[in-house]
Amino acid sequence: MEKIVSLAKRRGFIYPGSEIYGGLSGTWDYGPLGVELKNNIKQLWWRMFVQERDDMCGLDAAILMNPKAWEASGHVSGFSDPLVECKKCKRRFRADQVGEKCPECGGQFGEVRQFNMMFKTHVGAAEDESSVSYLRPETAGGIFVNFKNIVDSFHPKLPFGIAQIGKAFRNEIAPRDFVFRAREFEQMEIEYFVRPGEWGAAFTEWQANVHAFNEVVGIPRGSVHELEVADGDRAHYSKRTIDFEFDFPFGRKELYGLAYRTDFDLKAHAESSGVDLSYLDDASGERFVPHVIEPSFGLDRTILALLASVYTEDELGGEPRVYLKFNSAVAPIKAAVFPLLKNKPELVAKAREVYSMLKKQIPQIMWDDNGNIGKRYRRQDEIGTPYCITIDFDTLGEKPELADTATLRDRDTGEQERASIDNIVSRIA
Ligand code: ATP
Repeated sequence: MEKIVSLAKRRGFIYPGSEIYGGLSGTWDYGPLGVELKNNIKQLWWRMFVQERDDMCGLDAAILMNPKAWEASGHVSGFSDPLVECKKCKRRFRADQVGEKCPECGGQFGEVRQFNMMFKTHVGAAEDESSVSYLRPETAGGIFVNFKNIVDSFHPKLPFGIAQIGKAFRNEIAPRDFVFRAREFEQMEIEYFVRPGEWGAAFTEWQANVHAFNEVVGIPRGSVHELEVADGDRAHYSKRTIDFEFDFPFGRKELYGLAYRTDFDLKAHAESSGVDLSYLDDASGERFVPHVIEPSFGLDRTILALLASVYTEDELGGEPRVYLKFNSAVAPIKAAVFPLLKNKPELVAKAREVYSMLKKQIPQIMWDDNGNIGKRYRRQDEIGTPYCITIDFDTLGEKPELADTATLRDRDTGEQERASIDNIVSRIA
């Protein structure tokens, strides 16, 4: 874990939030490579679950919502974790994560009390109870309150789903384990609406879709385990939940959740808002409130599970090396282009030409002319770039038969081959 955190910081994937001020617990800033990685994952998800399907549509709802929505959903009264405070050192812990005694000083704990994890804020200039609102603790809320808008605009036939990617906020009692448990994080969520009797089949379908997504991203199936969450341990809205757990470096922990939320949310919002949220089923002529299956993907946990999966140490050319074995769909940089020497203008000009040609087709291309080629390879290995292209004197025609060829070096094997630039460009693009 330490190695991953340190590489993520050193190479510009993930920095501690507000670091120059000593940080802010539970916040993380994604650097230049982290944001590319994140965007690649979001795009894969969006493409797989929204754009490539006929039964899904997307949404980007506001983070701030009318507080009545969170009262109706049960979050104001029930979205809490059990908190204990040490009587001696006053430190606070999540009661379900500590033993009988304070792990810091061995002191006794006081009574367990429920701590609501929603961040409270005020909307508008008045700072009284009437202006209280919350930062959304899950993106799902925005989906439920837009159910009627989407049905009215598009008349989708059941079953259909609404997907959303966005920030969620939870005032976690004990943020920890890097981006695994943060106070500000990103979720990719789907509410998939079904006829009440058809929830079982949809649940099974989404169970398989979760694994299919992991495969596309590059999280190995063997590291992901399904846990059927028992009665009493499920969220207040759920009749069935499967947690998809991943073997993180700090233990087997929840990566994603899949829940059967029944008609709990739509019914609660209909009751609380006074707006009819039922659905008229053309097929049967019946009007009813659809039930819902919710696959919930944490984006930051995806990134951590992926980093843990692709972090590799091996030996190459008799020297130890570290590399990230990203597949090319998620790799933040798809290829790097080097001029063999940076003080030879004709080499630099040719390399620039190749670089621009590639960058026009795939923007995630990097230029590097710093230090010797071996060091440049190692730097690209460490950020998971699948290919490096080197422009040398042969490219310029020193050996006429090699004109307009370059070396293409493979990250995983370290092997280099000589190929025509056209061939290299079409292979990478
Ligand atoms: P946990 O039991 O680990 O607190 P949870 O069961 O409360 O998680 P859900 O409410 O099911 O989590 O949230 C859906 C998904 O959002 C989780 O599977 C996870 O990927 C992500 N997630 C939840 N809380 C956090 C957090 N504090 N930091 C990062 N991701 C989170």
